[in-house]
Amino acid sequence: MIILGAPYIEQAGSRVYVCSKVDDNGNEYVLRIGTYSEYAKYLVDDRLDSFVTALLPRAMRRKEDIKCMAPVSGSLLYQINEYLVPVCSSKMRDYHLIKVEADAVPDVTECAGAVATGYSGGVDSMHTVMNMTVLNKSPFKLTHLVIANCGAYEGGNDERKISYFTEKATNGIVKDTGLKLLLIDTNLHQILNDENYLSVISYRLTSCILALQKLFAVYFISTTYEFAKFSFDINDSAYADLFLFPYLSTKTTSLYSTGGHKPRIEKLIDLSDYEPARKYLHPCIMTRRNRDCRCSKCVFTKTALYALGKLDRFGEVFDLDEFEKNKDWYIAQTIVNKDIIHYGEAYALLKEKGMITEKSKQMARIITAATIVAHRNKDIIEGNNKEGQKA
Ligand SMILES: [Zn+2]
Repeated sequence: MIILGAPYIEQAGSRVYVCSKVDDNGNEYVLRIGTYSEYAKYLVDDRLDSFVTALLPRAMRRKEDIKCMAPVSGSLLYQINEYLVPVCSSKMRDYHLIKVEADAVPDVTECAGAVATGYSGGVDSMHTVMNMTVLNKSPFKLTHLVIANCGAYEGGNDERKISYFTEKATNGIVKDTGLKLLLIDTNLHQILNDENYLSVISYRLTSCILALQKLFAVYFISTTYEFAKFSFDINDSAYADLFLFPYLSTKTTSLYSTGGHKPRIEKLIDLSDYEPARKYLHPCIMTRRNRDCRCSKCVFTKTALYALGKLDRFGEVFDLDEFEKNKDWYIAQTIVNKDIIHYGEAYALLKEKGMITEKSKQMARIITAATIVAHRNKDIIEGNNKEGQKA
């Protein structure tokens, strides 16, 4: 059984955290979720909604009930026990039917009414900002951008990552849009470090948001996947966001998955007309990326924009000369990886427009052959010949 201690508030420098001491089968740790002091009054410290949510995947995976030493919002408790856990455990073999034991209390009544979305600078996040500001695509007017430190970014330590992203946003998108920027800092990714972030992404983000129910009335979580590709995937919870978010919402704070109505490639078309995206797009997971970054996300974003004839608009984000010089390599990567979701979209467009060069096809064949050889000889290359060990 996982026992969640009653929440308490802790000040650390200029930040204030709501914390819960967890007894996880005798293994004790403290989970904390916090923000700047000026937003501390919005932290919810009379209930365990956010901590229950953070630990749900772990509890379901290990078949452990969660016992709460403080209440949980009545609507959330009901939704988790009656809908979320039964459905997730029946749809995914690795998740089991468990119970959250807690006293139910009326949902939070005090709320400042903020409408927010997470801000990473990525394609999905930027598209949401555009939709909810200039295009006014929802009845709710966006008021806040949120940078949530709960496991999304790679490279460097937490404080450096946070200051890099907050400074970049403060001097960029915040100035252009007039939205307020809020940091939510957690130790979820440090404590629950045996969890693959993508497998729990929906729960982690929700956990951050529910800690500030007194602030957020509506929260948009940008999805990478089209709604039509809905599924229950143990390795990536976001495929099931359309199911999860209504059941992780409370009467106070509504969570919406957004952006799944169109594929990535169409989002890029929209963003090419959005000035802030042309300046601040940050398509990849590397905290400090270079304009010539060749991570998979940057590669398919550049190639997709090239296929769309829009790459030249993103000279502040990508090194256009580098792309031009290595165009065949980029196209070759798209051919090789065409079965991977977003590469596939770029590949289809390149093919449709007759933009796949003979040289790129040749390079793709070489890359594929080299990958096969490397895979076959993996053990030898790594000095780990299993046949040799057996002998
Ligand atoms: Zn990159």
